[in-house]
Amino acid sequence: MGRRGRIRFATVWLGGCSGCHMSFLDLDERLVELAGKAELVYGPFMDVKEFPQKVDVTLVEGAVANRANLSMAEKVRERSRIVVSLGDCAITGNVTSMRNHLPVADVLATFLNDGEGGVPAMDYDAVPELLPRALPLHQVIPVEGFIPGCPPDPDRIWAAIGCLLRGEPVHLESDMLTFG
Ligand code: SF4
Repeated sequence: MGRRGRIRFATVWLGGCSGCHMSFLDLDERLVELAGKAELVYGPFMDVKEFPQKVDVTLVEGAVANRANLSMAEKVRERSRIVVSLGDCAITGNVTSMRNHLPVADVLATFLNDGEGGVPAMDYDAVPELLPRALPLHQVIPVEGFIPGCPPDPDRIWAAIGCLLRGEPVHLESDMLTFG
């Protein structure tokens, strides 16, 4: 538990487009209610460099696509009581895994040009080493729940957070699982 009895809450951005986090921000005024019950201790909205210890609930956006994602996923699992996959990239690989049928060398050659055509070459060493395949989070670490959607609707995120705040397993009613 965090300060004033609030749960310690984190969000993590792995191999995703940040759309799931944008949808989280679309909770709008419900973020104020959430702040009364949860203390945000890590996430892309904060300037905290190291994932902290003793986190109660962590929502993870994105697939595990590179070595940095893999190491972060393992750290999140080690330091979080409950881990929930947020969005289809974390749950199935989705968009991030579309490159899986290509060899990594071909992916890099396509997206990191070699300086031809007047475009500066990128520093390969500055890019985290890609895994051979982008993986759903639960294939790398155990998770306690899933919030589907691309991105998940804010109402669906809020329904799942409600379960987590009540200490219940993530359970979404069927109308929360209908894809629009
Ligand atoms: S699930 Fe959709 S919105 Fe979320 S990171 Fe993947 S592509 Fe982006």
